[in-house]
Amino acid sequence: MSEVKDLSNSVIFPIGDVFESNNFNGTVHLKMLTGKPCPIGNVTFEPGCRNNWHKHPGGQILLVTGGKGYYQEWGKPAKKLHAGDVVNIPADVKHWHGAAKDSWFVHLAVEADASKGSTEWLEPVSDEEYERANSN
Ligand code: MN
Repeated sequence: MSEVKDLSNSVIFPIGDVFESNNFNGTVHLKMLTGKPCPIGNVTFEPGCRNNWHKHPGGQILLVTGGKGYYQEWGKPAKKLHAGDVVNIPADVKHWHGAAKDSWFVHLAVEADASKGSTEWLEPVSDEEYERANSN
């Protein structure tokens, strides 16, 4: 079965609008489902899209609902993600997440403790780092 799926009609939650941000390389869609005190966003990455390295002062939980993608912490190898995977990202751990080159990728992003402040955005994931994630 091909890993390439058209998830543009979304899978479980609404896909939302294209989210314009310099902190993403590629096209991403965002639909906020809840607000404070526990914001949850449905994030849909088009193939090849990933975010820059970043940190969450209050941590973040990713609940993967569709497609194929990656999560990588600074200094560690990237982990491949599929629907059903849960990633518990501790506060202030530098990381990125995004789609594989050949697949859409959809996750819920839960701000574990929004009261600690907003995301700290860092440098882009290099093409070399992204290629390495896709080749493992
Ligand atoms: Mn994150």
